[in-house]
Amino acid sequence: MFPLRYASEQLAELALPTELLTKISIYGLLGTMEFITYVGLGSNLGDRELNLLRAVAEIGKIPESRITALSGFYDTEPVGPVSQDSFLNAVLRLDTSLTPYQLLADLQRIETDVFHRERTVAQGPRTMDLDLLLYDAIVMESEILTIPHPRLHERRFVLVPLAEIAPDQIHPLLGKTMTELLRDLPTGQRVTKI
Ligand code: AMP
Repeated sequence: MFPLRYASEQLAELALPTELLTKISIYGLLGTMEFITYVGLGSNLGDRELNLLRAVAEIGKIPESRITALSGFYDTEPVGPVSQDSFLNAVLRLDTSLTPYQLLADLQRIETDVFHRERTVAQGPRTMDLDLLLYDAIVMESEILTIPHPRLHERRFVLVPLAEIAPDQIHPLLGKTMTELLRDLPTGQRVTKI
């Protein structure tokens, strides 16, 4: 049951908005509460398409969670200081009753154990990068986790697939939909659906 896992101290630590706390306590009485989250996937090493498909399958095995939408796959120009091959990116929607920290731990376990990801060059080539982009209406910042993902709104390779599956989803900090955020982006950053 939901309330057993979410002790009141844990809820306080999350600093959830009041509406969400109300929702949690109502649903807590009824049963397990699911939160809508969005996860970004990216790969530019090895067989990128196979890597994305494998990651989707692995994310599908995360407990207390189910994939409810998947964007197309996009070939995207690398962003940042490191010159490297282009990425293949996608976004999926995951309905989950895990906490943000539990979900991040599962995503990092997939990066490390399934894809043997090594962080040799910061922002460099990678077999799999999994980012927790949005977790319901939660806004939080800690040493290991920031939600919404801090660079979500600047990245065409995230916003294009996100706007494909969640065009009306509001960014809880910026108050704009994904479609609006995408419209606000300067041109550039090639993103091509495969
Ligand atoms: P990266 O090397 O781009 O995969 O960054 C991973 C690091 O970012 C990890 O140390 C995470 O703890 C941290 N991080 C902070 N916020 C997030 C988020 N929303 N999703 C994924 N990683 C995050």
